[in-house]
Amino acid sequence: LSVAELNQATIQRIQQLNPTLNSFLAVNDQPVPETSVDSEQLLAGIPLAIKDNILTKQLKTTAASKILSNFQSVYESTVTTKLLAAGMHNIGKTNMDEFAMGSSSENSAFGPVKNPWNLQKVPGGSSGGSAAAVAAGEVLAALGTDTGGSVRQPASFNGVFGIKPTYGRVSRWGVIAFCSSMDQVGVLSRHVADSALILQTMAGYDPHDNTSSSQPVPNFSAINADVRGLKIAVPDEFMGDGVAPGVRQQVQHALDLLAAQGAQIDTVQLPHAQYAVQVYYIIASSEASSNLQRYDGIRYGYRSTEVQNLEDVYVHSRSEGFGDEVKRRIMLGTFALSAGYYDAYFNKAAQVRTLINQDFEKVFQNYDLIVGPTAPTTAFDLGSRIDDPVVMYMNDILTIPANLAGLPAASVPVGLADGMPVGVQLIAPAFGEQTIFNTAQVLE
Ligand code: GLN
Repeated sequence: LSVAELNQATIQRIQQLNPTLNSFLAVNDQPVPETSVDSEQLLAGIPLAIKDNILTKQLKTTAASKILSNFQSVYESTVTTKLLAAGMHNIGKTNMDEFAMGSSSENSAFGPVKNPWNLQKVPGGSSGGSAAAVAAGEVLAALGTDTGGSVRQPASFNGVFGIKPTYGRVSRWGVIAFCSSMDQVGVLSRHVADSALILQTMAGYDPHDNTSSSQPVPNFSAINADVRGLKIAVPDEFMGDGVAPGVRQQVQHALDLLAAQGAQIDTVQLPHAQYAVQVYYIIASSEASSNLQRYDGIRYGYRSTEVQNLEDVYVHSRSEGFGDEVKRRIMLGTFALSAGYYDAYFNKAAQVRTLINQDFEKVFQNYDLIVGPTAPTTAFDLGSRIDDPVVMYMNDILTIPANLAGLPAASVPVGLADGMPVGVQLIAPAFGEQTIFNTAQVLE
């Protein structure tokens, strides 16, 4: 198979499925010049789907928002620069919740994504287009971003592997900012080994991102699928009544398998994890309200035509350009940061975030890995939660703690419950991605 044939076949498959799934917002039908393909490079010529909040010079970058619907970036993000240099090909930009705010990919200004396992179900979010594209066999791998679970939860809902690296492992340069203290680019793929190779290629220190880490990037592809003696902790709080019985059963199944392979499994407590959703939605909305100030109708994208004066440019462009969920977050964040409420909300949330981090530190003094479900349920019905933000937010309760603590975490497909995929979540200490890949490979 030549690179040109592979890319042609990929485009055909996307064009055939996209009217049904809506997983792509833009497809790159430019042929890949064979001369640019170095066959020594393992990733050479492989099509990569890229979440539409990651800046690329080929194709628009909209973050699935009306306010950026015509935005063409003049520069390439660090992650895609590195992957393109390794020979990968930007095959298209994937649909998502607007500005990565959501858990169902229903908050896109360009229509919802459908779950390829069952078209009545959501694919999860916010990287729902990336997950659906991998699950439907449109691409082998896709980039997503994960601020509160947006790689892992859609990976779980679509039966694919998805990893969010340690905060700082990957550069955020050229990634549209939502919550800068938690945003990380991650990878979704059918096979664990493909994510390992892609992550190792895009990771590393970047002078453009002061929060990127200078920790050396290991050769993640050297996977050692051996869990003998691995000390696994299962938090009580992750296996409680809020978790659907079918999900719990599949996770228990995976734990039994790991035990049979020689892992040691114990129950532990993360007593502050119960506050994670509240803490996250205060901090994430606060940072979002600040990050999204730049969309003023002047510097980027959409500008309202219904204007009489400068104030109207700001107010009308933002009112018409942002969707409901984004507006909700901006209002919530502005409130939480405002004088008089800052101590009661933002400061308090930051304090509880520290307590959550300390819970993890304590567990990792004695354990190598935390294991539990990725999400409390399998994919839910389209339309069933969109009118109830609190119910939607609660779906993130198991993924958010790792973001608050900056820890690497992945979702590995382990089976089905009522015909829909279930993911098991693996959380490692900071910079412990290799333990995740090794353990995931045992479960694959
Ligand atoms: N669902 C969460 C939110 O709406 C997480 C989103 C994300 O990780 N980008 O904020």
